[in-house]
Amino acid sequence: MTRTVYVNGAFVPEDEAKISVFDRGFLFSDGVYEVSTVVHGKLLDNPAHLARLRRSMSELNLPSPATDEEIVAAQKKLIEQNSLEEGAVYLQVSRGAADRDFAFPANPKPSLVMFTQPKNLLHAPQVSEGIKIVSVPDIRWKRRDIKTVSLLAQSLAKQAALDAGANDAWMVEDGYVTEGSSNNAFIVDQNGTLITRQLGNEILPGITRASVLRLTEIESIKLEERAFTIAEACAAQEAFITSATTFVWPVVSIDGHTVGDGKPGPVAGKLRELYIETALARAD
Ligand code: PMP
Repeated sequence: MTRTVYVNGAFVPEDEAKISVFDRGFLFSDGVYEVSTVVHGKLLDNPAHLARLRRSMSELNLPSPATDEEIVAAQKKLIEQNSLEEGAVYLQVSRGAADRDFAFPANPKPSLVMFTQPKNLLHAPQVSEGIKIVSVPDIRWKRRDIKTVSLLAQSLAKQAALDAGANDAWMVEDGYVTEGSSNNAFIVDQNGTLITRQLGNEILPGITRASVLRLTEIESIKLEERAFTIAEACAAQEAFITSATTFVWPVVSIDGHTVGDGKPGPVAGKLRELYIETALARAD
């Protein structure tokens, strides 16, 4: 079945969708993106994703191609036209087509592209099995708080993990974990304290991270927002990742060391359950 995708105001079959070879997203990675999850046909945490999109665009002086209302209407139409029950809507804004030049075009006409991807989210096997992590050096640029389409370092990190027989990579800079290849990293130490890196230019401010941190208050889980090392993670009771498309996935092994008892931990399980419940309650 061919998908219907969205390109600059038009809903078209995926094999008819066109973007210029001069598009600056293609030539310079001059673009930003968001991934909003869909469960039971509804968008999860979408207002927060759109707010982060606005911030990413403003940090890069990227003019907005559409209002939030227009974007939401297009996302919903794509969900409906593709009968998407569970999966994600990908959205990308680039600075558009202009003759190749490092300098920004004087009158940019930004491109907006969206498509859907079905995914098994609620009952992914990783939830009961846990995932294996390997650490890799973080070789990215210094503005990782902006969600740009420049993802080659993350793609290399992910592939290195798969080649090593693991599921994902945690990136390490100056001895400390920054984040996962496409997720935020968490550990629970031997005192039951939840530790995740503080926000800054070094990591993406994950939407799922923020939602999960709000839940720690309800659950009275002690929280420390600070950087941690791989050694601390290996010695932790539990470890897990968060992202829009995983929600919370437990980590059971890091660089070949078993985390805790090698089984998905209770804090990760509880936060996952609560996240899904509360995110679904406010989904639309
Ligand atoms: N960090 C990175 C580098 C990511 O790519 C992602 C997901 N795109 C995240 C964290 C998680 O962010 P979110 O919870 O908003 O999906």
